[in-house]
Amino acid sequence: MSTGKWTDYINPAVRNIPPSGIRRFFDLAAEMEGVISLGVGEPDFVTPWHIRESCIYSLHRGRTSYTSNHGLLELREEIAGYLAGQGVRYDPRKEILVTVGVSEALDLALRTVVSPGDEVIIPTPCYVSYIPCTSLAGGVPVTVATSMEDRFRLTADKLEAVITPRSKALLLCFPNNPTGAVMDRESLLQIAEVVQKHDLLVISDEIYDRLTYTGQHTCFASLPGMRERTILLNGFSKAYAMTGWRLGYAAAHEDFIAAMTKIHQYTMLCAPITAQVAALEALQNGKSAMEKMVAHYNRRRRLVLQGFKEIGLPCFEPGGAFYAFPYIGHTGLTASEFAENLLLEEKVAVIPGDVFGPGGEHCIRCSYASSVEDLTEAINRMGRFIKRKGLSKSR
Ligand code: PMP
Repeated sequence: MSTGKWTDYINPAVRNIPPSGIRRFFDLAAEMEGVISLGVGEPDFVTPWHIRESCIYSLHRGRTSYTSNHGLLELREEIAGYLAGQGVRYDPRKEILVTVGVSEALDLALRTVVSPGDEVIIPTPCYVSYIPCTSLAGGVPVTVATSMEDRFRLTADKLEAVITPRSKALLLCFPNNPTGAVMDRESLLQIAEVVQKHDLLVISDEIYDRLTYTGQHTCFASLPGMRERTILLNGFSKAYAMTGWRLGYAAAHEDFIAAMTKIHQYTMLCAPITAQVAALEALQNGKSAMEKMVAHYNRRRRLVLQGFKEIGLPCFEPGGAFYAFPYIGHTGLTASEFAENLLLEEKVAVIPGDVFGPGGEHCIRCSYASSVEDLTEAINRMGRFIKRKGLSKSR
């Protein structure tokens, strides 16, 4: 428990960061029985068996040591092969760093490029780590709210409007958590033009790239002129249902990777070898298992969209990731009130959109990485709830 005294010892940069808004709902839900959670941003699948099996064999063979700071070369080569398929070539020896999840890669990228006071432009609603990690790196997060009208895509005009002489980097995330928005190539080219004009760097978090249901994912670094100024982040948590393994990577110009590796080698040393073996197996032999999971998400996506339509919850069509971000403003409740009442009255856990930053105030995030039965029941319960709130709209 906080005594007051010890908080004075804590670095203000850490003290001033609010705890994650998502946590509160998990804690509330954990104390209740019969809750259906659409709250977690995590696949409901177990890592495919062949991936787990490859690790069992590697442990049998005694592969238990550190690896190179950069990660197993074989894995980096495989990653380079995957990215070449996305239209961008990296030298596996100098331009790829294997990290402890995208989480570490994001932290390294920010700490590497941000000097005190540098502004990092963050389209919101965004993944909950972006703003605090930017602050911890000494940067100033500058949010730019996307809107349902723009299908939660960043527009060149909106980006242009927040650029100042202190702007250093743009932090992109498409497909997006929490909105499920995707950006088509044409829109990304317009962003790239602004980036070039203002000499910005881009940190592009593409952890959901394979969870794209409408059209083709465009890797930002593959756009003309963008490879050199982009730090591309990706990982294994989502596509291969490997959240607990903690494995990701960064790909970028060798100057960025060399600098990021300096921090990584002193703080992390290397990513766990067993997780690296698993990632190698995932890239070499995991395509069909991954595609099956993606097909399941897509079916659930359609089910949830149809369900929301039937219960009168307006929702823009998410093209990627495994989140829907319906609008709840018409109920007369704030997103927090909606989420809290829904949990207490109907035992369905969702996340209020405001925890993801400006632009999410009147929405809730619903993860559809859950079974069809749970999703169907959750939508029934939400329908009941909306009906009641609809009746009390005149309050
Ligand atoms: N970026 C985004 C957009 C995410 O949604 C997540 C996980 N929820 C992460 C990064 C972190 O991923 P990892 O498990 O690879 O650290």
